[in-house]
Formats: sequence, structure tokens, C-alpha cells
Amino acid sequence: MEQVKILIDLQEVMGQARRLDEEKQKVPLEVADLKSLFEEREASFLAAEQEFETLKQQRREKEREIEEERDKVERAKAKLMSIKTNKEYYAMLKEIEGTRRTNVAREEELLSLLVRYEEAEKRLAERKADLDEVSGKYRERRIDIDARMGSFDEDIGKLDARRRQVASKLDPSLVRRFEMIFERRDGLAVVAARNYSCTGCHMNIAPQLFNLLQREDRIHTCPNCNRVVYFEASEIEAAGE
Ligand SMILES: [Zn+2]
Repeated sequence: MEQVKILIDLQEVMGQARRLDEEKQKVPLEVADLKSLFEEREASFLAAEQEFETLKQQRREKEREIEEERDKVERAKAKLMSIKTNKEYYAMLKEIEGTRRTNVAREEELLSLLVRYEEAEKRLAERKADLDEVSGKYRERRIDIDARMGSFDEDIGKLDARRRQVASKLDPSLVRRFEMIFERRDGLAVVAARNYSCTGCHMNIAPQLFNLLQREDRIHTCPNCNRVVYFEASEIEAAGE
């Protein structure tokens, strides 16, 4: 029974490591929804920012044009004083009037730009608030997850050291065989045989093998599922003792 007890220990340690590893795999999934929400909000914010910057640029451009044209009118007006002929004078007046008219149109364009600019500014502030709300949560979750991942790694490392220590008490070829069964049989590689049946696959065990299990300190496996089996008295048998 000595070897079987060690195998039971080994199974326990390997099982714990396996469960921890499964939990660890699930952890990043917990944050996936939050991550995609964050990315969505970030994209909306960046689009709003882009729109706002474009309008800001257009607004500056329009204001600059209007300013330049105003200067031009002022300069033309000053020049009027020094003009000698009527012909030149009227030509200059006409030019000034033309520039003024263009500027009226420009000012209207600027007004509609300002409306869009203010809307974009408001939208940008809203998107920024939305993004801040999610990014705060997302950051906190990631810090939490990183800490948990760290402690998983630490615990799995400890179990791994313990597994090696337990396995060192056994023949390496037996350990390899055991690990193979552990993988194939979903973490259950050593089971009790009770009432002439294997508690792993619930198939009958021939009386001859069952008797060997009771008597021998050798490793026997279930002929059906290949798990290592060991004798365990049934409740009736145990009560009879
Ligand atoms: Zn079996």
C-alpha cells in the first residue's frame, strides 16, 4: 500500500495544481467584456476628438481669412486718400465693396462653423466622461487581475515543488505512467476498488485480481480504464471486521 499512498498524495497535489491552472485560465476572461467596452469608448472619444480638432482648425482658418480681408479693406480705404483720378477712385471703391461682400459670406460660414464647433466640444466632453468612467474601472480590474495572476503563479510554483518532492519517492517510470493516466482520465488516476468493482469506471473487477489487490503491495491497474486501483473494504466488509 505504501506506493499507492504516495500515488494518492501525488494525485492530490497534481489535482490542486490543475484546478488552480484552470481558474487562472478563466481570470483574463473576466476582464474581456470590460476591455471591449473600454476600447469602444476609447474609439468614440478619439473620433470626437478628431472631429473637434478639425473644426477648431477650420474655425481658426476662417477667422484668419476674415481678419486678413478686413486689413485689406482698411489699407484700401487709406489708399483712397492718395488717389488722383476718379476712374482709379471708383475702381478702388468697387474692390472694397467686393471684399466686404465676400467677408459677409465668410462671417456667415464662420457662424455655422461655430455652431458645429460648440456641438463637437460638448460631444467631446461627454465622450471623455464616458471614457473616464470605464477606464477607471478597467484599470482597477487589471491591477486586481495582475495581483491574482501573480498569486496563482506563486501557488502553482509551490505545488509543483511539492509534486516533484512526492514523485521523487517513486520509480520515474511509474511516475510517467501515472502522469499519462492522470491526463487521459481527467485528473483521476488512482482509485479504490470496492465490492469487486473499480470506483473510477464502475466496471467489475475479476475476483482473482480483487484478491491480489488485497494481498499484494504491487501496482495493479483496472483492466477497463487503466487507472491504478487499490483495495478498499466496502462498508459491509468494514462493518463485519
Ligand atoms: Zn476502472
